Order: sequence, then C-alpha cells, then structure tokens
Amino acid sequence: SRCRFVVSACLAGEYCRYDGGSNACAAVRELVRRGAAVTACPEGLACLPVPRPPCEIREGRVLSQDGRDLTADFFRGARLAMEIASRHGCTAAILKRRSPSCGVGQIYDGTFSRTLCPGDGLWARMLREAGFALYTEEHLPEDI
Ligand code: SF4
Repeated sequence: SRCRFVVSACLAGEYCRYDGGSNACAAVRELVRRGAAVTACPEGLACLPVPRPPCEIREGRVLSQDGRDLTADFFRGARLAMEIASRHGCTAAILKRRSPSCGVGQIYDGTFSRTLCPGDGLWARMLREAGFALYTEEHLPEDI
C-alpha cells in the first residue's frame, strides 16, 4: 500500500516512549485511522526495552543516561524505520520533537540537562537526506 506519511509511533498513541508513555496527537492518529500514514518507532524496531534510560547525542554518538553507547542500536532502528517508509512509498514524515531518533532540527545536547542544540535525530537525518518533507507534532502539514 502507498501512504504519504510515515509518523513517529508515539504520536499515533503507541506507548513506545523511553518512559513508557506516548505522545498521542489527534491529527496524527486521524491520518493513521484514514490509512494515510504508517507508524514506525526506530528505538522499538531496535528492540530497545520500554521503559529504557533516556538517550542523547553527543559528538555523533548516542549515549544513555546510564553511560552506555547505543549508537549501533539507534542506527539499526533508524534503518529499519527507513525500510518501512520506503516499502509504503512515503514521501513525508511527522516526527516527535527533540528525540535522539526522531527530533527535527533541534535535539538535546548530550549533557542530560534539558539543554537543546541544533541537530536532527538519527532517523530524522536519514529521512531528510532521502528527501522526505519533515514535520513535527507542533508543525503539522497544512493540507492533511
Ligand atoms: Fe517516539 Fe521516535 Fe522515541 Fe519511538 S524513537 S518513542 S517513535 S520519539
């Protein structure tokens, strides 16, 4: 099936956040309900557990707050999420802000002090480089 949008699964109401929560967004849920969006959670696709320690990106590495380097897991999950997007023919993505996987344009700076810096999450960067139009739950496409 062809879907215009791939969306962060937590925005569609899945409980895949690091803390076991979701970020349900009514507009995103409606797209999924209509069959216009497919969901993916790169961290879930990497088989990271829920809940899991928060992670941030520092100098290109994905580090957990408890000091592990999860870069390889995050890349594997992002690649699997890309496969879902490609298989469904998606051309645009609606992504959860500030996540080390899904964040668009702005992420946490790797100091675990709630400090933001410019940058994309790993999956968002792959989508950007593949030419996807990127949106967030606070910057939704106008024509949906
Ligand atoms: Fe949501 Fe993305 Fe984090 Fe999964 S990896 S919980 S989809 S923000």
